[in-house]
Amino acid sequence: MNDLASIAYFSMEVALEEGMPTYSGGLGVLAGDTIRAAADLRVPMLAMTLLHRKGYFYQRLDPNGSQIGEPVAWVVEDFVREMTPRVSVAIEGRTVELRCWRYETRGAGGHIVLVYFLDADLPENSDWDRTLTDYLYGGDQRYRLCQEVVLGIGGVRMLRALGHQNVRRFHMNESHSSLLTLELLIEETEKAGKRSITIDDIVAVKKRCIFTTHTPVPAGHEKFPIALVRSVLGHEELLAEMKNLICCGDIFHLTFLGLNLSDYVNGVAKKHGEISRLMFSGYNIDAITNGVHAATWASGSFQELYDRYVSGWKQDNFSLRYALSIPKQEIWDAHMQAKRQFIRYVNRQTNAGMDFDVLTLGFARRAATYKRGDLLFQDTLRLKRIASKAGPFQVVYAGKAHPRDEDGKELIRRIFQSKEALKPDIKVAYLENYDLEIGKMITSGVDVWLNTPQPPLEASGTSGMKAALNGVPSLSILDGWWIEGCIEGVTGWAIGENGTGEAPRSDRSEDARWLYDKLENVVIPFFYRDRERFIDVMVHCIALNGSFFNTHRMIQQYVLKAYL
Ligand SMILES: *Cc1c(COP(=O)(O)O)cnc(C)c1O
Repeated sequence: MNDLASIAYFSMEVALEEGMPTYSGGLGVLAGDTIRAAADLRVPMLAMTLLHRKGYFYQRLDPNGSQIGEPVAWVVEDFVREMTPRVSVAIEGRTVELRCWRYETRGAGGHIVLVYFLDADLPENSDWDRTLTDYLYGGDQRYRLCQEVVLGIGGVRMLRALGHQNVRRFHMNESHSSLLTLELLIEETEKAGKRSITIDDIVAVKKRCIFTTHTPVPAGHEKFPIALVRSVLGHEELLAEMKNLICCGDIFHLTFLGLNLSDYVNGVAKKHGEISRLMFSGYNIDAITNGVHAATWASGSFQELYDRYVSGWKQDNFSLRYALSIPKQEIWDAHMQAKRQFIRYVNRQTNAGMDFDVLTLGFARRAATYKRGDLLFQDTLRLKRIASKAGPFQVVYAGKAHPRDEDGKELIRRIFQSKEALKPDIKVAYLENYDLEIGKMITSGVDVWLNTPQPPLEASGTSGMKAALNGVPSLSILDGWWIEGCIEGVTGWAIGENGTGEAPRSDRSEDARWLYDKLENVVIPFFYRDRERFIDVMVHCIALNGSFFNTHRMIQQYVLKAYL
Protein backbone atom coordinates (compact mmCIF):
# COMPACT_ATOMS: atom_id res chain seq x y z
CA MET A 1 0.00 0.00 0.00
CA ASN A 2 2.85 2.37 0.84
CA ASP A 3 4.22 2.01 -2.65
CA LEU A 4 1.03 3.34 -4.11
CA ALA A 5 1.11 6.55 -2.16
CA SER A 6 2.75 8.64 -4.83
CA ILE A 7 0.88 11.89 -4.22
CA ALA A 8 1.25 13.59 -0.86
CA TYR A 9 -1.51 16.10 -0.19
CA PHE A 10 -0.60 18.68 2.46
CA SER A 11 -3.29 20.77 4.10
CA MET A 12 -3.41 22.77 7.33
CA GLU A 13 -7.00 21.64 7.80
CA VAL A 14 -8.88 18.48 6.85
CA ALA A 15 -12.57 17.80 7.56
CA LEU A 16 -13.15 14.07 7.89
CA GLU A 17 -16.03 13.67 10.29
CA GLU A 18 -18.16 15.76 12.69
CA GLY A 19 -16.37 14.53 15.77
CA MET A 20 -12.95 15.68 14.58
CA PRO A 21 -12.57 19.47 14.89
CA THR A 22 -9.58 19.54 12.55
CA TYR A 23 -11.02 22.10 10.12
CA SER A 24 -12.36 25.63 10.12
CA GLY A 25 -14.27 25.94 6.86
CA GLY A 26 -14.23 25.57 3.12
CA LEU A 27 -10.53 24.77 2.78
CA GLY A 28 -10.73 21.83 5.17
CA VAL A 29 -14.03 20.57 3.77
CA LEU A 30 -12.52 20.65 0.29
CA ALA A 31 -9.49 18.72 1.58
CA GLY A 32 -11.76 16.06 3.09
CA ASP A 33 -13.83 15.82 -0.09
CA THR A 34 -10.65 15.58 -2.18
CA ILE A 35 -9.37 12.72 -0.05
CA ARG A 36 -12.71 10.90 -0.21
CA ALA A 37 -12.81 11.25 -4.00
CA ALA A 38 -9.21 10.03 -4.30
CA ALA A 39 -10.20 6.97 -2.28
CA ASP A 40 -13.25 6.32 -4.51
CA LEU A 41 -11.20 6.60 -7.69
CA ARG A 42 -8.17 4.71 -6.36
CA VAL A 43 -5.86 7.66 -6.77
CA PRO A 44 -2.61 6.76 -4.97
CA MET A 45 -2.66 9.57 -2.44
CA LEU A 46 -1.91 10.16 1.22
CA ALA A 47 -2.54 13.29 3.21
CA MET A 48 -0.62 15.20 5.88
CA THR A 49 -2.08 17.68 8.35
CA LEU A 50 -1.93 18.70 12.04
CA LEU A 51 -3.87 17.10 14.86
CA HIS A 52 -5.42 20.28 16.31
CA ARG A 53 -6.07 18.85 19.77
CA LYS A 54 -8.17 21.88 20.75
CA GLY A 55 -9.73 22.22 17.31
CA TYR A 56 -10.70 25.46 15.66
CA PHE A 57 -13.23 26.31 18.36
CA TYR A 58 -16.66 25.41 19.65
CA GLN A 59 -19.06 28.29 18.98
CA ARG A 60 -21.75 29.47 21.34
CA LEU A 61 -23.86 32.55 20.69
CA ASP A 62 -25.44 34.63 23.43
CA PRO A 63 -28.92 36.18 22.94
CA ASN A 64 -27.32 39.22 21.25
CA GLY A 65 -25.40 37.07 18.82
CA SER A 66 -22.07 37.66 20.56
CA GLN A 67 -19.81 34.75 19.84
CA ILE A 68 -18.20 32.81 22.65
CA GLY A 69 -15.46 30.43 21.57
CA GLU A 70 -14.35 27.43 23.60
CA PRO A 71 -11.61 24.89 22.96
CA VAL A 72 -13.16 21.75 21.48
CA ALA A 73 -12.98 18.72 23.73
CA TRP A 74 -12.44 15.53 21.74
CA VAL A 75 -10.86 12.17 22.38
CA VAL A 76 -8.15 11.76 19.78
CA GLU A 77 -7.81 8.01 20.31
CA ASP A 78 -11.45 7.47 19.34
CA PHE A 79 -10.70 8.57 15.79
CA VAL A 80 -7.05 7.97 14.94
CA ARG A 81 -4.32 5.45 15.66
CA GLU A 82 -0.88 6.38 16.91
CA MET A 83 2.06 5.53 14.68
CA THR A 84 5.49 4.58 16.00
CA PRO A 85 7.95 6.76 14.04
CA ARG A 86 9.15 10.02 15.58
CA VAL A 87 10.83 12.87 13.79
CA SER A 88 12.06 16.24 14.94
CA VAL A 89 12.23 19.77 13.59
CA ALA A 90 14.34 22.70 14.74
CA ILE A 91 12.30 25.65 15.95
CA GLU A 92 14.05 28.71 17.36
CA GLY A 93 17.08 26.53 17.96
CA ARG A 94 15.12 24.00 20.01
CA THR A 95 14.46 20.46 18.92
CA VAL A 96 10.76 19.75 18.70
CA GLU A 97 9.81 16.08 18.62
CA LEU A 98 6.81 15.01 16.58
CA ARG A 99 4.71 11.90 16.37
CA CYS A 100 1.75 11.24 14.13
CA TRP A 101 -1.64 9.59 14.12
CA ARG A 102 -3.30 7.80 11.26
CA TYR A 103 -6.83 7.92 9.89
CA GLU A 104 -8.09 5.65 7.13
CA THR A 105 -10.47 6.99 4.49
CA ARG A 106 -12.14 4.13 2.68
CA GLY A 107 -13.48 4.79 -0.82
CA ALA A 108 -16.62 3.42 -2.45
CA GLY A 109 -14.66 0.46 -3.85
CA GLY A 110 -12.65 -0.18 -0.68
CA HIS A 111 -9.42 1.65 -1.60
CA ILE A 112 -7.89 3.44 1.38
CA VAL A 113 -6.30 6.89 1.51
CA LEU A 114 -4.31 7.46 4.69
CA VAL A 115 -4.40 10.78 6.49
CA TYR A 116 -1.59 11.55 8.94
CA PHE A 117 -2.02 14.00 11.79
CA LEU A 118 1.18 15.51 13.20
CA ASP A 119 1.28 15.95 16.97
CA ALA A 120 3.79 17.91 19.07
CA ASP A 121 2.21 17.07 22.43
CA LEU A 122 5.08 14.94 23.74
CA PRO A 123 6.75 15.09 27.18
CA GLU A 124 10.16 15.67 25.58
CA ASN A 125 8.99 19.07 24.31
CA SER A 126 8.77 22.33 26.25
CA ASP A 127 5.32 23.34 27.47
CA TRP A 128 4.95 25.91 24.71
CA ASP A 129 6.14 23.57 21.98
CA ARG A 130 3.64 20.99 23.16
CA THR A 131 0.84 23.40 22.23
CA LEU A 132 2.00 23.81 18.63
CA THR A 133 -0.53 21.36 17.25
CA ASP A 134 -3.40 22.49 19.51
CA TYR A 135 -5.21 25.36 17.82
CA LEU A 136 -6.07 25.65 14.15
CA TYR A 137 -5.37 29.25 13.05
CA GLY A 138 -4.86 30.24 16.68
CA GLY A 139 -2.16 32.32 18.34
CA ASP A 140 0.02 35.04 16.90
CA GLN A 141 2.27 35.15 13.84
CA ARG A 142 5.05 33.33 15.64
CA TYR A 143 2.73 30.47 16.64
CA ARG A 144 1.40 30.23 13.09
CA LEU A 145 4.84 30.14 11.55
CA CYS A 146 5.95 27.44 14.00
CA GLN A 147 2.89 25.39 13.02
CA GLU A 148 3.84 25.83 9.39
CA VAL A 149 7.32 24.52 10.14
CA VAL A 150 5.72 21.49 11.78
CA LEU A 151 3.43 20.87 8.79
CA GLY A 152 5.82 21.59 5.92
CA ILE A 153 9.18 20.43 7.25
CA GLY A 154 7.97 17.97 9.89
CA GLY A 155 5.45 16.57 7.41
CA VAL A 156 8.06 15.68 4.79
CA ARG A 157 10.32 14.13 7.45
CA MET A 158 7.42 12.12 8.82
CA LEU A 159 6.59 10.76 5.37
CA ARG A 160 10.15 9.56 5.03
CA ALA A 161 10.08 8.03 8.51
CA LEU A 162 6.81 6.24 7.75
CA GLY A 163 8.43 4.62 4.76
CA HIS A 164 6.63 6.54 2.02
CA GLN A 165 9.66 6.71 -0.24
CA ASN A 166 7.77 6.84 -3.51
CA VAL A 167 6.08 10.19 -3.21
CA ARG A 168 6.28 11.72 -6.67
CA ARG A 169 4.13 14.77 -6.17
CA PHE A 170 3.65 17.12 -3.25
CA HIS A 171 0.38 18.98 -3.47
CA MET A 172 0.15 22.10 -1.31
CA ASN A 173 -3.49 22.82 -0.56
CA GLU A 174 -2.97 26.55 0.08
CA SER A 175 0.36 28.05 1.13
CA HIS A 176 0.32 27.04 4.83
CA SER A 177 2.32 23.99 3.81
CA SER A 178 4.70 25.64 1.37
CA LEU A 179 7.69 25.30 3.72
CA LEU A 180 7.74 21.71 2.52
CA THR A 181 9.58 23.02 -0.55
CA LEU A 182 12.39 24.15 1.74
CA GLU A 183 12.79 20.67 3.15
CA LEU A 184 12.79 19.19 -0.36
CA LEU A 185 15.47 21.70 -1.39
CA ILE A 186 17.61 20.74 1.57
CA GLU A 187 17.15 17.08 0.69
CA GLU A 188 18.33 17.79 -2.84
CA THR A 189 21.44 19.67 -1.80
CA GLU A 190 22.34 17.08 0.83
CA LYS A 191 21.84 14.27 -1.66
CA ALA A 192 24.37 15.91 -3.95
CA GLY A 193 26.70 16.61 -1.04
CA LYS A 194 26.56 20.34 -1.70
CA ARG A 195 26.49 23.22 0.71
CA SER A 196 24.29 25.62 -1.21
CA ILE A 197 21.28 25.33 -3.49
CA THR A 198 21.66 25.45 -7.25
CA ILE A 199 19.28 25.98 -10.12
CA ASP A 200 19.27 22.22 -10.63
CA ASP A 201 17.95 21.68 -7.11
CA ILE A 202 15.21 24.20 -7.71
CA VAL A 203 14.27 22.54 -10.99
CA ALA A 204 14.23 19.11 -9.33
CA VAL A 205 11.99 20.28 -6.49
CA LYS A 206 9.72 22.26 -8.78
CA LYS A 207 9.01 19.20 -10.90
CA ARG A 208 7.48 17.50 -7.90
CA CYS A 209 5.37 20.32 -6.49
CA ILE A 210 1.83 21.47 -7.11
CA PHE A 211 0.33 24.54 -5.53
CA THR A 212 -3.34 25.45 -5.23
CA THR A 213 -4.15 28.99 -4.19
CA HIS A 214 -7.55 29.48 -2.62
CA THR A 215 -8.38 33.10 -2.12
CA PRO A 216 -8.12 36.54 -3.66
CA VAL A 217 -8.46 38.10 -0.19
CA PRO A 218 -5.07 39.63 0.68
CA ALA A 219 -5.29 38.49 4.34
CA GLY A 220 -5.45 34.95 3.05
CA HIS A 221 -1.92 35.24 1.68
CA GLU A 222 0.33 34.81 4.66
CA LYS A 223 3.53 36.75 5.02
CA PHE A 224 6.03 37.13 7.81
CA PRO A 225 8.81 39.58 8.62
CA ILE A 226 12.06 37.95 7.54
CA ALA A 227 13.53 38.51 11.01
CA LEU A 228 10.82 36.31 12.52
CA VAL A 229 11.45 33.64 9.90
CA ARG A 230 15.18 33.70 10.64
CA SER A 231 14.60 33.34 14.35
CA VAL A 232 12.11 30.48 13.95
CA LEU A 233 13.79 28.59 11.11
CA GLY A 234 17.49 29.31 11.46
CA HIS A 235 18.89 28.47 8.00
CA GLU A 236 20.28 32.02 7.58
CA GLU A 237 22.38 31.11 4.56
CA LEU A 238 19.67 29.18 2.83
CA LEU A 239 17.21 32.02 3.33
CA ALA A 240 19.72 34.46 1.89
CA GLU A 241 20.23 32.25 -1.14
CA MET A 242 16.49 31.94 -1.59
CA LYS A 243 15.87 35.67 -1.41
CA ASN A 244 14.30 35.80 -4.85
CA LEU A 245 12.04 32.85 -4.24
CA ILE A 246 10.39 34.16 -1.12
CA CYS A 247 9.66 37.62 -2.36
CA CYS A 248 10.17 41.05 -1.46
CA GLY A 249 12.66 42.78 0.76
CA ASP A 250 12.08 41.98 4.36
CA ILE A 251 8.92 40.00 3.82
CA PHE A 252 8.71 36.23 3.59
CA HIS A 253 5.68 35.43 1.49
CA LEU A 254 4.43 31.84 1.68
CA THR A 255 2.38 32.21 -1.50
CA PHE A 256 5.44 33.27 -3.51
CA LEU A 257 7.36 30.33 -2.13
CA GLY A 258 4.59 28.04 -3.39
CA LEU A 259 4.40 29.84 -6.74
CA ASN A 260 8.14 29.80 -7.32
CA LEU A 261 8.68 26.19 -6.43
CA SER A 262 5.73 24.57 -8.16
CA ASP A 263 5.48 23.25 -11.65
CA TYR A 264 1.72 23.43 -11.69
CA VAL A 265 -0.27 26.19 -9.99
CA ASN A 266 -4.03 26.62 -10.02
CA GLY A 267 -6.91 28.67 -8.73
CA VAL A 268 -10.17 27.03 -7.71
CA ALA A 269 -12.65 28.33 -10.32
CA LYS A 270 -12.22 29.84 -13.76
CA LYS A 271 -12.80 33.37 -12.53
CA HIS A 272 -10.44 32.80 -9.60
CA GLY A 273 -7.77 31.64 -12.07
CA GLU A 274 -8.14 34.98 -13.89
CA ILE A 275 -8.00 37.00 -10.69
CA SER A 276 -4.95 35.06 -9.51
CA ARG A 277 -3.15 35.73 -12.79
CA LEU A 278 -3.76 39.44 -12.23
CA MET A 279 -2.61 39.26 -8.61
CA PHE A 280 0.52 37.27 -9.45
CA SER A 281 1.39 38.34 -12.95
CA GLY A 282 4.22 36.48 -14.61
CA TYR A 283 3.13 33.13 -13.22
CA ASN A 284 1.42 30.47 -15.21
CA ILE A 285 -1.75 29.89 -13.19
CA ASP A 286 -4.38 27.46 -14.36
CA ALA A 287 -7.83 26.83 -12.88
CA ILE A 288 -9.53 23.68 -11.65
CA THR A 289 -12.98 24.41 -10.32
CA ASN A 290 -13.71 22.95 -6.90
CA GLY A 291 -16.28 20.27 -6.26
CA VAL A 292 -17.92 18.40 -3.40
CA HIS A 293 -18.00 14.70 -2.59
CA ALA A 294 -21.44 13.57 -3.70
CA ALA A 295 -21.84 10.52 -1.46
CA THR A 296 -20.94 12.67 1.57
CA TRP A 297 -23.25 15.56 0.85
CA ALA A 298 -26.40 13.93 -0.53
CA SER A 299 -28.98 13.66 2.27
CA GLY A 300 -30.36 10.27 3.29
CA SER A 301 -33.50 10.69 1.21
CA PHE A 302 -31.56 11.64 -1.94
CA GLN A 303 -29.10 8.80 -1.40
CA GLU A 304 -32.05 6.40 -1.44
CA LEU A 305 -33.50 8.05 -4.51
CA TYR A 306 -30.20 7.93 -6.41
CA ASP A 307 -29.66 4.34 -5.36
CA ARG A 308 -32.98 3.49 -6.98
CA TYR A 309 -32.67 5.53 -10.18
CA VAL A 310 -28.97 6.23 -10.83
CA SER A 311 -27.07 3.02 -10.32
CA GLY A 312 -23.38 3.37 -9.50
CA TRP A 313 -23.63 7.10 -8.72
CA LYS A 314 -21.34 6.83 -5.70
CA GLN A 315 -18.47 5.42 -7.75
CA ASP A 316 -19.24 7.64 -10.71
CA ASN A 317 -20.70 11.04 -9.93
CA PHE A 318 -21.02 11.92 -13.63
CA SER A 319 -23.95 9.53 -13.83
CA LEU A 320 -26.00 12.01 -11.79
CA ARG A 321 -26.93 13.51 -15.16
CA TYR A 322 -29.48 10.68 -15.35
CA ALA A 323 -31.38 12.42 -12.57
CA LEU A 324 -33.31 13.91 -15.50
CA SER A 325 -35.32 10.72 -15.66
CA ILE A 326 -36.32 10.61 -11.99
CA PRO A 327 -40.07 11.29 -11.60
CA LYS A 328 -40.59 14.85 -10.38
CA GLN A 329 -42.89 13.85 -7.55
CA GLU A 330 -40.15 11.65 -6.11
CA ILE A 331 -37.63 14.49 -6.25
CA TRP A 332 -40.07 16.67 -4.35
CA ASP A 333 -40.83 13.95 -1.80
CA ALA A 334 -37.12 13.35 -1.14
CA HIS A 335 -36.66 17.09 -0.72
CA MET A 336 -39.58 17.43 1.70
CA GLN A 337 -38.23 14.56 3.76
CA ALA A 338 -34.88 16.35 4.15
CA LYS A 339 -36.63 19.66 4.74
CA ARG A 340 -38.95 18.40 7.47
CA GLN A 341 -36.04 16.78 9.27
CA PHE A 342 -34.06 20.00 9.08
CA ILE A 343 -36.91 22.31 10.14
CA ARG A 344 -37.55 20.06 13.15
CA TYR A 345 -33.89 20.40 14.06
CA VAL A 346 -33.96 24.20 13.68
CA ASN A 347 -37.06 24.48 15.85
CA ARG A 348 -35.58 22.24 18.52
CA GLN A 349 -32.33 24.18 18.61
CA THR A 350 -33.65 27.74 18.34
CA ASN A 351 -37.38 27.67 19.13
CA ALA A 352 -37.94 29.61 15.89
CA GLY A 353 -41.28 27.96 15.13
CA MET A 354 -40.54 27.48 11.47
CA ASP A 355 -43.09 25.99 9.10
CA PHE A 356 -42.48 22.97 6.82
CA ASP A 357 -44.45 24.53 3.99
CA VAL A 358 -42.96 28.00 3.93
CA LEU A 359 -40.24 28.87 1.41
CA THR A 360 -36.98 28.51 3.34
CA LEU A 361 -33.74 30.25 2.44
CA GLY A 362 -30.40 29.03 3.78
CA PHE A 363 -27.13 30.86 4.29
CA ALA A 364 -24.15 29.24 6.00
CA ARG A 365 -20.45 29.91 5.70
CA ARG A 366 -17.62 31.54 7.61
CA ALA A 367 -18.82 34.86 8.98
CA ALA A 368 -16.27 36.94 7.08
CA THR A 369 -17.36 40.42 6.07
CA TYR A 370 -16.76 39.91 2.33
CA LYS A 371 -19.35 37.10 2.39
CA ARG A 372 -21.92 39.80 3.31
CA GLY A 373 -24.24 37.53 5.29
CA ASP A 374 -26.39 40.54 6.13
CA LEU A 375 -26.98 41.74 2.57
CA LEU A 376 -30.49 40.26 2.72
CA PHE A 377 -31.26 42.70 5.56
CA GLN A 378 -30.13 45.84 3.77
CA ASP A 379 -33.72 47.12 3.66
CA THR A 380 -35.88 45.32 6.21
CA LEU A 381 -38.99 47.33 5.32
CA ARG A 382 -38.81 46.20 1.72
CA LEU A 383 -38.18 42.65 2.89
CA LYS A 384 -41.33 42.71 5.02
CA ARG A 385 -43.33 44.09 2.13
CA ILE A 386 -42.09 41.28 -0.12
CA ALA A 387 -43.14 38.69 2.46
CA SER A 388 -46.62 40.14 2.80
CA LYS A 389 -47.23 40.75 -0.91
CA ALA A 390 -45.36 38.03 -2.83
CA GLY A 391 -45.49 35.25 -0.26
CA PRO A 392 -43.96 34.23 3.08
CA PHE A 393 -40.41 33.01 3.58
CA GLN A 394 -38.12 32.12 6.47
CA VAL A 395 -34.33 32.15 6.70
CA VAL A 396 -31.81 29.91 8.47
CA TYR A 397 -28.22 31.03 9.13
CA ALA A 398 -25.10 29.38 10.46
CA GLY A 399 -21.42 30.27 10.56
CA LYS A 400 -18.45 31.03 12.79
CA ALA A 401 -16.34 34.17 12.81
CA HIS A 402 -12.60 33.76 13.34
CA PRO A 403 -11.95 34.51 17.06
CA ARG A 404 -9.85 37.56 16.10
CA ASP A 405 -12.15 38.83 13.39
CA GLU A 406 -14.08 41.56 15.23
CA ASP A 407 -15.88 42.63 12.07
CA GLY A 408 -17.00 39.05 11.46
CA LYS A 409 -18.35 38.82 15.01
CA GLU A 410 -20.14 42.14 14.54
CA LEU A 411 -21.70 40.71 11.36
CA ILE A 412 -23.27 37.89 13.40
CA ARG A 413 -24.64 40.44 15.91
CA ARG A 414 -26.15 42.44 13.06
CA ILE A 415 -27.89 39.33 11.75
CA PHE A 416 -29.29 38.79 15.27
CA GLN A 417 -30.57 42.37 15.33
CA SER A 418 -32.31 41.88 12.01
CA LYS A 419 -33.75 38.63 13.28
CA GLU A 420 -35.46 40.60 16.08
CA ALA A 421 -36.48 43.48 13.82
CA LEU A 422 -38.21 41.15 11.38
CA LYS A 423 -40.36 39.42 14.00
CA PRO A 424 -43.09 38.28 13.56
CA ASP A 425 -43.29 38.79 9.79
CA ILE A 426 -40.20 36.84 8.76
CA LYS A 427 -38.75 34.08 10.90
CA VAL A 428 -34.98 34.01 11.07
CA ALA A 429 -32.88 31.44 12.95
CA TYR A 430 -29.14 31.30 13.54
CA LEU A 431 -27.72 27.85 14.32
CA GLU A 432 -24.71 27.64 16.64
CA ASN A 433 -21.45 25.85 15.92
CA TYR A 434 -21.66 25.32 12.16
CA ASP A 435 -20.01 22.00 11.35
CA LEU A 436 -20.14 19.18 8.81
CA GLU A 437 -23.38 17.78 10.17
CA ILE A 438 -25.18 21.12 10.16
CA GLY A 439 -23.64 21.78 6.74
CA LYS A 440 -25.25 18.66 5.39
CA MET A 441 -28.62 19.34 6.98
CA ILE A 442 -28.86 22.98 5.94
CA THR A 443 -27.75 22.52 2.33
CA SER A 444 -30.30 19.74 1.83
CA GLY A 445 -33.06 21.05 4.09
CA VAL A 446 -33.77 24.52 2.67
CA ASP A 447 -35.58 25.34 -0.57
CA VAL A 448 -33.20 27.94 -1.95
CA TRP A 449 -29.51 28.48 -1.20
CA LEU A 450 -28.48 32.10 -0.81
CA ASN A 451 -24.96 33.41 -1.41
CA THR A 452 -24.10 37.09 -1.49
CA PRO A 453 -20.33 37.57 -1.52
CA GLN A 454 -18.64 40.76 -2.61
CA PRO A 455 -17.22 39.99 -6.08
CA PRO A 456 -14.56 39.00 -6.95
CA LEU A 457 -13.60 37.79 -3.48
CA GLU A 458 -15.35 34.42 -3.45
CA ALA A 459 -12.69 32.17 -4.96
CA SER A 460 -15.08 29.31 -5.52
CA GLY A 461 -17.60 28.60 -2.77
CA THR A 462 -18.76 25.03 -2.36
CA SER A 463 -21.89 25.01 -0.23
CA GLY A 464 -24.05 25.90 -3.26
CA MET A 465 -22.68 22.73 -4.88
CA LYS A 466 -23.78 20.67 -1.86
CA ALA A 467 -27.22 22.26 -2.23
CA ALA A 468 -27.34 21.45 -5.98
CA LEU A 469 -26.65 17.77 -5.25
CA ASN A 470 -29.76 17.82 -3.09
CA GLY A 471 -31.85 19.53 -5.72
CA VAL A 472 -31.64 22.90 -3.96
CA PRO A 473 -31.22 25.81 -6.41
CA SER A 474 -28.99 28.78 -5.65
CA LEU A 475 -29.92 32.44 -5.63
CA SER A 476 -26.45 33.93 -5.75
CA ILE A 477 -24.16 36.73 -6.73
CA LEU A 478 -22.28 35.84 -9.92
CA ASP A 479 -18.90 35.09 -8.41
CA GLY A 480 -16.74 32.01 -7.88
CA TRP A 481 -18.23 28.75 -9.11
CA TRP A 482 -21.67 30.27 -9.69
CA ILE A 483 -20.43 32.12 -12.80
CA GLU A 484 -19.96 28.64 -14.26
CA GLY A 485 -22.92 26.93 -12.62
CA CYS A 486 -25.71 29.44 -13.11
CA ILE A 487 -28.06 29.01 -16.03
CA GLU A 488 -30.75 31.54 -15.28
CA GLY A 489 -34.08 29.92 -14.50
CA VAL A 490 -32.64 26.47 -15.25
CA THR A 491 -30.20 25.74 -12.39
CA GLY A 492 -31.12 28.71 -10.20
CA TRP A 493 -30.95 32.48 -10.32
CA ALA A 494 -28.30 35.17 -10.43
CA ILE A 495 -28.31 38.22 -8.21
CA GLY A 496 -27.29 40.81 -10.76
CA GLU A 497 -27.27 40.94 -14.52
CA ASN A 498 -27.74 37.61 -16.24
CA GLY A 499 -25.89 35.66 -18.75
CA THR A 500 -22.84 37.84 -19.29
CA GLY A 501 -20.56 35.22 -17.75
CA GLU A 502 -18.87 38.09 -15.95
CA ALA A 503 -18.99 39.06 -12.33
CA PRO A 504 -20.75 42.43 -12.33
CA ARG A 505 -19.21 45.39 -10.61
CA SER A 506 -20.48 45.37 -7.10
CA ASP A 507 -22.40 47.99 -5.22
CA ARG A 508 -23.96 46.94 -1.96
CA SER A 509 -27.34 48.62 -2.24
CA GLU A 510 -27.62 47.76 -5.91
CA ASP A 511 -26.85 44.11 -5.13
CA ALA A 512 -29.51 44.18 -2.43
CA ARG A 513 -32.02 45.61 -4.92
CA TRP A 514 -31.26 42.83 -7.39
CA LEU A 515 -31.69 40.31 -4.61
CA TYR A 516 -35.08 41.73 -3.60
CA ASP A 517 -36.26 41.92 -7.20
CA LYS A 518 -35.38 38.31 -7.92
CA LEU A 519 -36.89 37.11 -4.69
CA GLU A 520 -40.11 39.05 -5.19
CA ASN A 521 -40.65 38.57 -8.91
CA VAL A 522 -39.12 35.20 -9.64
CA VAL A 523 -38.26 32.92 -6.75
CA ILE A 524 -41.31 33.36 -4.53
CA PRO A 525 -43.86 33.22 -7.37
CA PHE A 526 -42.13 30.13 -8.80
CA PHE A 527 -42.14 28.38 -5.46
CA TYR A 528 -45.78 28.98 -4.54
CA ARG A 529 -47.52 29.29 -7.88
CA ASP A 530 -45.56 27.22 -10.37
CA ARG A 531 -44.33 24.28 -8.35
CA GLU A 532 -43.89 22.14 -11.48
CA ARG A 533 -41.38 24.56 -12.92
CA PHE A 534 -39.68 24.97 -9.55
CA ILE A 535 -39.14 21.20 -9.42
CA ASP A 536 -37.82 21.37 -12.96
CA VAL A 537 -35.09 23.70 -11.69
CA MET A 538 -34.39 21.27 -8.85
CA VAL A 539 -33.90 18.41 -11.32
CA HIS A 540 -31.49 20.49 -13.41
CA CYS A 541 -29.49 21.39 -10.30
CA ILE A 542 -28.74 17.72 -9.87
CA ALA A 543 -28.36 16.73 -13.51
CA LEU A 544 -26.28 19.71 -14.68
CA ASN A 545 -24.47 20.86 -11.54
CA GLY A 546 -24.44 17.83 -9.23
CA SER A 547 -22.97 15.73 -12.03
CA PHE A 548 -20.18 18.25 -12.65
CA PHE A 549 -19.33 20.27 -9.52
CA ASN A 550 -18.12 17.26 -7.59
CA THR A 551 -14.69 16.11 -6.45
CA HIS A 552 -14.74 13.09 -8.78
CA ARG A 553 -14.53 15.44 -11.78
CA MET A 554 -12.15 17.70 -9.86
CA ILE A 555 -9.67 15.00 -8.86
CA GLN A 556 -9.64 13.64 -12.39
CA GLN A 557 -8.61 17.07 -13.60
CA TYR A 558 -5.87 17.21 -10.98
CA VAL A 559 -4.65 13.79 -12.09
CA LEU A 560 -4.56 14.79 -15.77
CA LYS A 561 -3.25 18.33 -15.42
CA ALA A 562 -1.06 18.14 -12.35
CA TYR A 563 -0.30 14.70 -10.95
CA LEU A 564 0.66 12.74 -14.07
C1 LIG B 1 -19.18 23.43 2.95
C2 LIG B 1 -18.78 23.99 4.23
C3 LIG B 1 -18.03 25.18 4.27
C4 LIG B 1 -17.62 25.93 3.03
O1 LIG B 1 -18.68 26.60 2.43
P1 LIG B 1 -18.41 27.70 1.29
O2 LIG B 1 -19.69 27.85 0.59
O3 LIG B 1 -17.35 27.12 0.39
O4 LIG B 1 -17.95 28.93 1.96
C5 LIG B 1 -17.65 25.67 5.51
N1 LIG B 1 -17.99 25.04 6.64
C6 LIG B 1 -18.72 23.91 6.64
C7 LIG B 1 -19.07 23.27 7.94
C8 LIG B 1 -19.14 23.34 5.44
O5 LIG B 1 -19.86 22.21 5.45
